[in-house]
Amino acid sequence: MTERYDAIIIGAGIIGACTAYELARRGWKTLNVDRLPAAGYGSTGASCAIIRTHYSTLDGSALAYESYFRWDDWANYLGVADERGLAAFHKTGCLIMKTTANGHLRSVCAQQDALGIPWEAWGPDAINAKLPFYDLHAFGPPKRPDDPAFGEAQGDDQLGAVFFPCAGYVGDPQLAAHNAQRAAEARGAVFRFNAEVAAIRREDSRVAGVTLNSGEPVDAPVVVNVAGPHSYKINRMAGVEDGMTIRTRALKQEVAHVPFPAGFDFERAGLVTSDSDIGCYCRPEIGNHILIGSEDPPCDPREWVDPDDYDRNFSEQWQVQVQRVAQRIPGLPVTSPVRGVVDLYDVTDDWIPIYDKSDLPGFYMAVGTSGNQFKNAPVAGAMMAELILACEQGRDHDRDPLPFRLPRAGRTISIGFFSRRREINPESSFSVLG
Ligand SMILES: Cc1cc2nc3c(=O)[nH]c(=O)nc-3n(C[C@H](O)[C@H](O)[C@H](O)COP(=O)(O)OP(=O)(O)OC[C@H]3O[C@@H](n4cnc5c(N)ncnc54)[C@H](O)[C@@H]3O)c2cc1C
Repeated sequence: MTERYDAIIIGAGIIGACTAYELARRGWKTLNVDRLPAAGYGSTGASCAIIRTHYSTLDGSALAYESYFRWDDWANYLGVADERGLAAFHKTGCLIMKTTANGHLRSVCAQQDALGIPWEAWGPDAINAKLPFYDLHAFGPPKRPDDPAFGEAQGDDQLGAVFFPCAGYVGDPQLAAHNAQRAAEARGAVFRFNAEVAAIRREDSRVAGVTLNSGEPVDAPVVVNVAGPHSYKINRMAGVEDGMTIRTRALKQEVAHVPFPAGFDFERAGLVTSDSDIGCYCRPEIGNHILIGSEDPPCDPREWVDPDDYDRNFSEQWQVQVQRVAQRIPGLPVTSPVRGVVDLYDVTDDWIPIYDKSDLPGFYMAVGTSGNQFKNAPVAGAMMAELILACEQGRDHDRDPLPFRLPRAGRTISIGFFSRRREINPESSFSVLG
């Protein structure tokens, strides 16, 4: 007999697992199907898992602030233990450099004020009290190291920054997904691994379930696409791409892990940084390493790929990112062998995710997370659950977008903000910053 569930969730990354947990809490019998061997083995496991509250849009910041409280209270949010332990949230705070590119953070800080999110202006003395070795000259706009002007300070002025205390990082994002899986299972959810969805089935013009690559059918009146960088392939299988004005595609990313220069314990005394003057973000990594990601400045080529067929080796980009950060941290070594991560973002046209229904009744999507939605997974899962419940009870979310309450942020947002049918949001940073 064919297995039957209330909902099938394609993907068991952090957002797929949190969606399962939130639906299971509401009494739904869910099945997550993932082609990989365990939860969080996709882009979640590659994530830098930085938690921060500042986004370029007010709704984006409100969602991130609400999510911050979930990470800060992860054990209570989950309500169950995990035999592997719980993922730790390292609350280091986040230091963002004030640059011309980000308008000296004026509008970001105004939005944080509107939402009651704390921040502090730090001048060069305050920054150097925390990071004594930090070179605060302006080097921007970001360049490639073969540019003759690379590394040249633009005058004697020193940059200031804004410190956001409600920020940090989750050290083990794969474990966080496993935690959410265990919480979902405790409410009756089922997870199947090493099982790939090969087709989405329809019956009477609504979704009827999926067929696995083994040929096995699994039935459900609701199917949710949370397939990360494969999201566009699943949307094509479901035949729903034509009903979307915003689409998704996979972008290759490299993250460098390098040992921090001797004499400073960055692992314990460091913090998250974001620096559009040099085009990089950083955070501490175990073994007194520093992790370096790219903010994708315009001088870098963007490599859009097929998620099933791309080069998983490091390229020259790894070294470019290390050299950029060496402008701030003199003595930062370009080590060999190279260490870090090569993986994919699932990017939308405006770098804002899609949390929505589709034109196929019963088919939903939490996709296009654009390198910046690990932090929002617990609230995104709840938003998807509320959206699915409302639509299945007959709400026309396209005409009458569902409001969603963020109790800790003290705000109600419209889930329509994340619509697949929106116009490109001009307020976006059009980058990983969201
Ligand atoms: C290098 C990097 C750094 C990042 N840094 C940050 C950060 O600092 N902060 C932040 O908030 N976000 C960050 N992100 C983004 C964040 O990791 C993602 O937004 C988040 O992990 C997405 O979770 P997900 O569950 O939607 O997708 P994923 O974790 O990608 O899970 C999707 C799952 O779907 C499965 N799947 C795909 N196709 C099929 C199929 N046909 N059948 C069955 N299963 C399928 C995959 O195997 C995968 O496990 C980063 C991402 C990357 C790549």
